[in-house]
Amino acid sequence: MKVLKFGGTSVGSAENINKVIAILNQQSQDTAIAVVVSAVGGITDKLLEAGNLACQKNLEYNQKYDTIWSIHNSVIEGLFPTTQNNEALRKQQDELRDLVSEKLNDLKQLLNGIYLINELSPKTLDKLLSFGETLSSTIIYHTLKSRAGDVVLKNSQELILTDSTFNNATVNFEVTNKNITDFFSKNTSPIVLLPGFISKSIHGEITTLGRGGSDYTAAIIAAAMEVEELQIWTDVSGMYTTNPKLVKQASPIEQLSYQEAVELSHFGAKVLYPPTVMPVLKKKIPIIIKNTLDPEAVGTTITKQVTPSGNSPIKGISNIENVALLTLQGNGMVGVPGFSKRLFETLAQEKINIILITQSSSEHTICFGISQNDAQRAKEAIDAIFEYEISLQKIDPIVVETDLSIIAVIGDKMKNHQGISGKMFSTLGKNNVNIRAIAQGASERNISAVIHKNDVKKALNSLHEQFFEIKTKQINLFITGVGNVGERLIEQIKQQKAYVKEQFKINLRITGLSNSRTMVVNDDGINLKHWKTELENGEKASLQNFFEHAKALNLRNSVFIDITANEAVSNIYGQYLKESISVIACNKIACSGNIEYYNELKALSRQYNASFLFETNVGAGLPVIDTLNHLITSGDKINTIQAVLSGSLNFIFNNFNTDTTFYDVVKQAQEEGYTEPDPRIDLSGIDVARKILILARESGHQIELSELESDSFLTENANNSDSVDDFFETLKADEAYYQGLYKSAQEHNSQLKFVAEFNDGKAKVGLQEIPEGHPFYNLEGKDNIVMFYTQRYPEQPLIIKGAGAGADVTASGLFADIIRIANN
Ligand code: ADP
Ligand code: ASP
Ligand code: MG
Repeated sequence: MKVLKFGGTSVGSAENINKVIAILNQQSQDTAIAVVVSAVGGITDKLLEAGNLACQKNLEYNQKYDTIWSIHNSVIEGLFPTTQNNEALRKQQDELRDLVSEKLNDLKQLLNGIYLINELSPKTLDKLLSFGETLSSTIIYHTLKSRAGDVVLKNSQELILTDSTFNNATVNFEVTNKNITDFFSKNTSPIVLLPGFISKSIHGEITTLGRGGSDYTAAIIAAAMEVEELQIWTDVSGMYTTNPKLVKQASPIEQLSYQEAVELSHFGAKVLYPPTVMPVLKKKIPIIIKNTLDPEAVGTTITKQVTPSGNSPIKGISNIENVALLTLQGNGMVGVPGFSKRLFETLAQEKINIILITQSSSEHTICFGISQNDAQRAKEAIDAIFEYEISLQKIDPIVVETDLSIIAVIGDKMKNHQGISGKMFSTLGKNNVNIRAIAQGASERNISAVIHKNDVKKALNSLHEQFFEIKTKQINLFITGVGNVGERLIEQIKQQKAYVKEQFKINLRITGLSNSRTMVVNDDGINLKHWKTELENGEKASLQNFFEHAKALNLRNSVFIDITANEAVSNIYGQYLKESISVIACNKIACSGNIEYYNELKALSRQYNASFLFETNVGAGLPVIDTLNHLITSGDKINTIQAVLSGSLNFIFNNFNTDTTFYDVVKQAQEEGYTEPDPRIDLSGIDVARKILILARESGHQIELSELESDSFLTENANNSDSVDDFFETLKADEAYYQGLYKSAQEHNSQLKFVAEFNDGKAKVGLQEIPEGHPFYNLEGKDNIVMFYTQRYPEQPLIIKGAGAGADVTASGLFADIIRIANN
């Protein structure tokens, strides 16, 4: 004989019930089966909600009732479809609906009663909740029978006897086992159907076995009958390495020991109700968890002995939601025996279950985790019991922290491995998950940590990545500004994604995109094949909302990338860093603006363990800042920096000669996109000034833009022009002056270069005549060059040279920053 239990989703729709029936037909061919069913998915919660509403005198309980009614009705209609004008089916549907309506009428009476007396006792609650399983088993029984099955419906309340602890009754195994064996010894039917979850007390009252208790019903029957196996059919393909609803990469665990399964389920793996294991463990009956929606999937087998598989000593990671942490502390506790006894006795009297305990070795505090629903009751009871000590200020009133969760890593083999807790806590630390308390079970089968509920998803994903996917690190990018450079970056990511994943184990995902009009955020990563349409159809762009989305998703390794030239965007970096979201800025404003803001961002980056990178601020994709940082961190000192940092000015002076006019060359540079739309930004030298300022700051000098010496080579007219057109007119008018600059350079056998210099703590920019033989002399096209004279490179400078402008190289500079963060 086998016992099969089907959960809420498995019996949650006509479609799924048909799948259940197919499984039953197949399995009952070999052996007799007992089938335990849950309530239709979500109904137990709805019954509870309706009860609470009625009890609070809220008439909306009627609507909840209507929903319960229509959910069952649509299951019935789906199982007995009348569309083909089949008279027999219609009759069966009507009969079943009458039967179910009768029970639903009783439910309505009960709810009305709760409403009238304004009270919902635990006893009444059990009566209320029992409707779920009673209804589902009735529907499934009639369906099975109508399809010519030889099937019996047995009310589990006649078999499972409990005490009167309503909502979570304790089973009297002696009587229960006898009831079960007596019943099955007389049964001749190949299929016996039973409602899960519900039971009866010795006084004949309806009791229930606790939320999720249908698993337990099945285990009780399986153990009593010493069956060959217990199958738990649910909506996922087994017990997973962690909750698959929260971690997409989770995978089913093929084999687990009973102890591992107990730990995982105790610590929140809802797929198996924790008490389920005990009865079958004693009889060594294997538990097999299977997916009704995918019966072919292997599932999880839980047995005593597990053949070792894989290298990881960790079997799974689970979490318990809705936890409160209570702390009892005070000097009066030190060295005085009996405090913990009184504390825990009080909790026991209040029937409050303790999930986790830690005590500091100074004995100054005891900290324990309980369900948040019990927190207030616990506080009142404990403060009352220690009233005297509190009045003498020997101890403080108990402190309650709420909105917490527990996460736990679990595995039988953990005790034989060093360093697991180190890995666990450093992973959480790196991802900025604050840990409120830690406990390790003496069995060393479990290490748990209490964290804020908002961090659970991130913590589970990071730990899962660490212990089960070690090889890939997911990077979540939130990009704002998708002009030329942004578009190239997205293309590069699209093109390199598979390679980077394969070769470097980095999984790059774009989770947010924004331009000035619209934005789109997608937890699963935006599909890069049609990012443009997704962005176009996104919500209205808002800097703040974009940030709020990134914060709410709370994904590990999140990176905000600013590819705008917008000051408002640069002002928001601090907010990102404070959420431990790294920032990559293509935008120069933050690093070249007010020094205080620059310093603040650097400090936030350290404090919140998030990178702040801006390689593309100087020399586009050239590794200028990265090299400078390496020099400094390795102990070198920067003496002088000399550089040509403007691709546009280089282009202009490389093309300007006696055969051209200055006006024509600048116009050409503008038209070909080598300058900003307003070429004054380049020609005034301000852009170069910002770049050398950034290098000076990165070399450790606290200087402001205003302290920079900037020699403009433009005429006064040009400097004072009011518009771009006006500016171009001055170039025409002052052609002779510009020709003069060129000729002078010619006479001195030199080339004109706009040079930035940093020396002795001072920075300056200006046009210079560069003599033949100087490394700047032959600088071509729109190339940039930077020379570092340092303690280690005193005479022959360290030179970085190459294309210093252009969308492709700038995008690859951003790409390099992303990889730096991923490798961090
Ligand atoms: P049923 O109604 O079939 O009893 P439950 O909702 O009680 O189903 O349990 C199945 C659910 O448990 C899954 O849908 C999943 O969301 C959740 N779950 C949490 N942790 C795990 C885990 N480690 N493995 C599998 N499922 C898990
Ligand atoms: N229907 C009950 C619940 O939702 C029991 C179960 O599904 O196991 O808790
Ligand atoms: Mg369940």
